[in-house]
Amino acid sequence: MRIGFGTDVHAFGPGDSVAVAGVRMPHSRGVLAHSDGDVALHALCDALLGAAGLGDIGMHFPDSDPKWKGADSRELTRHVMALLGARHYVVGNADLTILAEAPRIGRYREEMRRTVAQLLAVGEQQVNIKATTTEGLGFIGRGEGLAAQAVVLLLEVEREASR
Ligand code: MG
Repeated sequence: MRIGFGTDVHAFGPGDSVAVAGVRMPHSRGVLAHSDGDVALHALCDALLGAAGLGDIGMHFPDSDPKWKGADSRELTRHVMALLGARHYVVGNADLTILAEAPRIGRYREEMRRTVAQLLAVGEQQVNIKATTTEGLGFIGRGEGLAAQAVVLLLEVEREASR
């Protein structure tokens, strides 16, 4: 078993929706980012890469690479999962926390859980989505941006069994 942790922050900018955990939610702002700026999937990718000892998301999807401009972060996650699969890792479970004053995550939580479970090729019971505000404190509290944290457990598949 291997554990990994990831964290990500993005500032709000012009726009009318934000993508979080693969689900696009209407909002009074968008997100400034090279990709779609999905903080939850970016934190998740970093947790997956960290658990596998494969560096971080910036190494695999550099801002300087036009290939990832405006990228759907579900594609980044699929790419990371392919790297892990090639190394005989599967996901045990994942726990994500989204930090934002707005938009409120509650009504999207189950869709996020389903989306993340599909991306990680696990059952929904293996994925947990939590959300919190920062009680009005700091950049999140002032509504300048949002953040996410993720923890994942990777399991090593027996090479014999995976042949
Ligand atoms: Mg990011």
